[in-house]
Amino acid sequence: MSLTVVDSLSERHRPTWAEIHLGHLVHNFRAIRARVGPAVKICAVVKAEAYGHGAVAVARCLEAVGADWFGVATVEEGVALRAAGIARPILCFGVLQGQQDLVLEHRLTPVVFDLSLVERLEACARARQMILDVHLEVDTGMGRVGVPFRELTNVLRALARFPHIRLDGLMTHLAAADDPAKAEFTREQIARFRQALQMVETMGFHPTYRHLANSAGVRAYPEAWGNMVRPGGLLYGLWSGPHVSELVLETPEGACRLRPVLSLHTRIVLLKDVDAGTPLGYGSAFITSRPSRIATLPIGYHDGYRRALSTGGRVLVRGQFASVVGRVSMDWTLVDVTDIPEARVGDEVILIGQENGRRILAEDVAAWCGTIAYEITSGISARVPRVIIPAAPPHGEARWSGVSE
Ligand SMILES: *Cc1c(COP(=O)(O)O)cnc(C)c1O
Repeated sequence: MSLTVVDSLSERHRPTWAEIHLGHLVHNFRAIRARVGPAVKICAVVKAEAYGHGAVAVARCLEAVGADWFGVATVEEGVALRAAGIARPILCFGVLQGQQDLVLEHRLTPVVFDLSLVERLEACARARQMILDVHLEVDTGMGRVGVPFRELTNVLRALARFPHIRLDGLMTHLAAADDPAKAEFTREQIARFRQALQMVETMGFHPTYRHLANSAGVRAYPEAWGNMVRPGGLLYGLWSGPHVSELVLETPEGACRLRPVLSLHTRIVLLKDVDAGTPLGYGSAFITSRPSRIATLPIGYHDGYRRALSTGGRVLVRGQFASVVGRVSMDWTLVDVTDIPEARVGDEVILIGQENGRRILAEDVAAWCGTIAYEITSGISARVPRVIIPAAPPHGEARWSGVSE
């Protein structure tokens, strides 16, 4: 996916866009910095186009305000950041067989959990007469990637035989730190990580970085900070766990409310008055129960406005809620504006964002379609241009301002 990132939307664009409020990104980054303190490095997770916000714009902004590392899922994402001039270390969570040359060529730091990959990296580093830093991931309970705990000794023995590989970091990933009901499980993961670290040190390795904490770990488990944290969602003002009414970080300077970075917009392109009993959309699944005024919006499920929003989805028109009616289709969505008689063709419509003191969070959209906010923002497709709102907006207020302070 290659996102279109623009400074402003021209009249020639389809009027459907996402705004990326860099001022809010900086605010959230500084809140994380205040929470973990100056001694803990921050690896800003910008995988999946920075959860749909645009990885290059986000990484450039965060590099300028002091992000120490960047975290990406794929080698391709790391290469794209290097091509955009990002200079800080890039930790790549998902390096796969066959990608070892790219890792060395673009100075990426691979996470390793599989000896056959380490062998290939060693061969590649030897050929280039380089020493390659790697971070070893140990599985303490996620059950996804990571060296199983009982194989750790074997893997460390093997690592000691690779002269061109240096163990720069030891890491694990927390599975349920966003759920207070699973606190005991999280504490077990943290304890297992400590044990792993001891084994590593006993075998003569001294990794520079020790890291466990995702956003949920940053928010709720200071004992999991090690000397680096890997927040993604918090940077974007998003939360993965059970509903919280306000996303707040405790810092030595007091509680700090995080701000949503992305808002999603479109415009009414058509208005029509229909009789009671009129079927709307595919499958004629919705039938009006009253004479209605229906607005057509140029956004659909290919844009990431999910079909599951056909029932329960709401948008803001002139600062008032309007319900989605009929099935969301690939490129179009209908909303009922009968109770908003002042609505006009050309009016801006907010799908995620706030207006007139009312707001729709990505978390709300997620709840309406049974998923989490991460899936909503990262699912906004490349067809939707991202309009970058600079940290100090030259014209007008940032769209989200007033939501949180
Ligand atoms: C995605 C990811 C993170 C960030 O998770 P958030 O919940 O967004 O903070 C951190 N570490 C790894 C290994 C990840 O894959």
